[in-house]
Amino acid sequence: MNRRRIFAANWKMHHGPSSARAFLERFLPAMPAAPGRALWFFPPCPPMEAVAMSVRSRTDVSVGAQNVHWEPKGAFTGEISVDIAKDAGARGALVGHSERRHAFGESDEATGLKVRAVLDGGLVAMLCVGETLEQREAGETEAICLRQLRAGLAKVAASELDQVLVAYEPVWAIGTGRNATPEDAAAVHGTLRAALTRLGAAAPAILYGGSVNLGNVRELMAQGEIDGVLVGGASLDPVKWAELVASGSAG
Ligand code: PEP
Repeated sequence: MNRRRIFAANWKMHHGPSSARAFLERFLPAMPAAPGRALWFFPPCPPMEAVAMSVRSRTDVSVGAQNVHWEPKGAFTGEISVDIAKDAGARGALVGHSERRHAFGESDEATGLKVRAVLDGGLVAMLCVGETLEQREAGETEAICLRQLRAGLAKVAASELDQVLVAYEPVWAIGTGRNATPEDAAAVHGTLRAALTRLGAAAPAILYGGSVNLGNVRELMAQGEIDGVLVGGASLDPVKWAELVASGSAG
């Protein structure tokens, strides 16, 4: 089967350089490359270079930043630019993660600027979209996700869409232990895929994120609409992450 499968680990504010190196010493030998499978790690900034060094011989494993600023340089204390991330070994960046949107007030407009900056820097953008519980209960899921998708891609040409991965992450499912049913997730993925195709994407890749774990990854990945998973809590332990990737690869 030639299907693409993407397993992305978002470490959030976990793992410094030494624990990141120890993680990869355990994880990489347990997880040899497999055809069509791509692995991503989104560590905090300080271990980014250590992670990039640890995976440098693996073309199937990439490192990304959890967040970047859209400006190339300047007085933006606490931020990093695309070039700084790239210099540390990043090949991509998350944009619009729900914690950036909801805990740090990142606007739709900012996500558009960030995606543009990431692509200008030659990196892959993983654009996250997703509705809150209130929005889901109000029947606004698709409208919210489409609005966030269009805003994130507002400055992107059709020919650049192969450098964009989209992650559907319902806000109410992130870190809560509640996840969308595989069918619900697949329905939203179908809507996003249709929109990406209308924008000119030849082969959209859409990941699901939100309380993915060893118990549900196989069923999620069995949905033809789900090309991969973006995982927070369940990606922090090397042995458990290897088991999750192996199980999802078989789904
Ligand atoms: C995430 O951080 O993108 C995420 C989906 O977290 P969790 O897997 O912990 O819900």
